[in-house]
Amino acid sequence: MSSSLAFAYDVNPARIVFGPGSAARLADELRAAGRQRALVLTTPFQKDAGQALAAGLGGLAAGVFAEAAMHTPVEVTERAVAAFASLGADCTVALGGGSTIGLGKAIAWRNDTMQFVVATTYAGSEVTPILGETMDGVKTTVRSSKILPEVVIYDPDLTLTLPVAMSVTSGLNAIAHAVEGLYARDRNPITGLMALEGIRALHSALPVIVRAPQDAEARGRALYGSWLCGTVLGTVGMALHHKLCHTLGGSFDMPHAETHAVLIPHTAAYNQGFARAELAPAAALFGGDLGAGLWDFARSLGAPLALRDLGLAEADLDRAADLAVKNPYWNPGPVERGAIRDLLAPAVAGQRPA
Ligand code: NAD
Repeated sequence: MSSSLAFAYDVNPARIVFGPGSAARLADELRAAGRQRALVLTTPFQKDAGQALAAGLGGLAAGVFAEAAMHTPVEVTERAVAAFASLGADCTVALGGGSTIGLGKAIAWRNDTMQFVVATTYAGSEVTPILGETMDGVKTTVRSSKILPEVVIYDPDLTLTLPVAMSVTSGLNAIAHAVEGLYARDRNPITGLMALEGIRALHSALPVIVRAPQDAEARGRALYGSWLCGTVLGTVGMALHHKLCHTLGGSFDMPHAETHAVLIPHTAAYNQGFARAELAPAAALFGGDLGAGLWDFARSLGAPLALRDLGLAEADLDRAADLAVKNPYWNPGPVERGAIRDLLAPAVAGQRPA
């Protein structure tokens, strides 16, 4: 790949409010934006937290809709849009991870309402103008400035309840955005800095979180890293790794963050042969070999290592490889069926990449 300096840089306009206790600033943020009736969105799992957040907002809350679900099903969105209208809401507050944020984006895609997000995982969706939604088992992706949340609050205190296993897979999901950002065709010097800083923050914070999940400083550093990695995802194009995760997620119903966590060592191992210079600073953090180093790191954190444990069998390898090479994303290395099958085989079995 060429390293000559020539680039275009689009900045996603969003207000970011970061810091312990910053969720308490939500009411001020709503008032500053002239909002009076927020519909609070969350999942059934975080319903109590959503209700507590709405209670704290008092008259600024129009109600709570706690039905957000993975992959943003359109039937849930339709119920939420109806609730938004019947409650007379004038904005949404998504409290949660990518599933809840996806619901807020899907509402805004339909009625262009203003979105506030209180992000509680490391997935990064809150800073991207991308919405993936599912209807009749088919997932479609749309990109629009209407979809980008306007205000994002990152309060590390709210991530103290994120279970360790989910913290690890979500953190590796964030690292995957940054790794692909480092070699993205449309990368620029700023996304390169953000990607590396994001990987560095998560690389140092995740082992602490595994040992001490209540360590507030490590929680803050991990959330800071996830903001940077998410911003990279929202700014530059993703490549083979994200294509494989979307294919496996959509066609084999595999879990989002876990699939990213298992695959990133293998896709990094493959692509480092074609983007060595771009990946070198990240590789240095992981002992010099990014693929093997990421696998060792994931194992040390207790992350899942085998796609077969997530539902992909050896017998699925041919179909998975066939699907992965259809409509490929741009990638630094060739996207050929045989090579992709060879990449996937050790990931299915849980072996360290060669
Ligand atoms: P998630 O939002 O599905 O959350 C998983 C579970 O953890 C949910 O039950 C949630 O309520 C709970 N949870 C979240 N934060 C918690 C906390 N701090 N404490 C306790 N429980 C908590 O998981 P995710 O990985 O953040 O999001 C995955 C979804 O997001 C997928 O559908 C994926 O496609 C999408 N996504 C989209 C983008 C984008 O840019 N469009 C980016 C990343 C992910």
